[in-house]
Amino acid sequence: MPKQKSFGQRVLANLKKKVVQLLLATALLGGIVWGSARLLGPKTLDRVDTAGQARAKEEYKYLICNSCKLEVLYTAELDNHTCPKCQPPKVGYLMPSKTSIKSGGDGNPWRRYNVAVAIEAVLYLALIYYLLSRPVDETPTEFVLTCLHCGLSLQYKPDGFDQYAICPGCEQVIKLPDEDEAMTREDQEHVREMTILTAMELDLRKSGTIVDADAENGEPNPHDAPRG
Ligand SMILES: [Zn+2]
Ligand SMILES: [Zn+2]
Repeated sequence: MPKQKSFGQRVLANLKKKVVQLLLATALLGGIVWGSARLLGPKTLDRVDTAGQARAKEEYKYLICNSCKLEVLYTAELDNHTCPKCQPPKVGYLMPSKTSIKSGGDGNPWRRYNVAVAIEAVLYLALIYYLLSRPVDETPTEFVLTCLHCGLSLQYKPDGFDQYAICPGCEQVIKLPDEDEAMTREDQEHVREMTILTAMELDLRKSGTIVDADAENGEPNPHDAPRG
């Protein structure tokens, strides 16, 4: 009995089977985000050599207050000094910048990093979604059959499909179902439940507890259109 698993069932089955893959994906994301910070984030001083610092200083043309965004021309004396315009208690510092704030300035030095992380997060979620929603390759290996003669529950493997076997209970020859008819224990449970539900529904209909909407108001209800 080939069965379609619902999305939820597939996610659960995948979670059980793919913990390692999910952990790897998460570790990979961590690595990529860290790499992005190194590559795209602002260079901190410990990553710039002294010569580089001197060169960088020459390129600075402006000092911008990190609190009120006051912009003045670069002077080494005011570099990293408190902002003259800011009022206590919130006094900013004049940070060197290569570009004017009017042209966008250095803006948020983390902007490129933020964009990269946003893209990485989307890719990560897509990967997680893919891993979890992928059908689980889970070929059942054990099938069950109830002996028609003695009612004994028998188990058999896929190599028994469409073969004859002798029931260990009654020693009668029984034919094992082929691949399409074969049922796992889960399938059998499902069939049993459906049989019980159908019987209950029949009982309720007989006793008049359930009445078809069509029968009640004469007009066919669009929600109760015949299915299948
Ligand atoms: Zn200021
Ligand atoms: Zn039997």
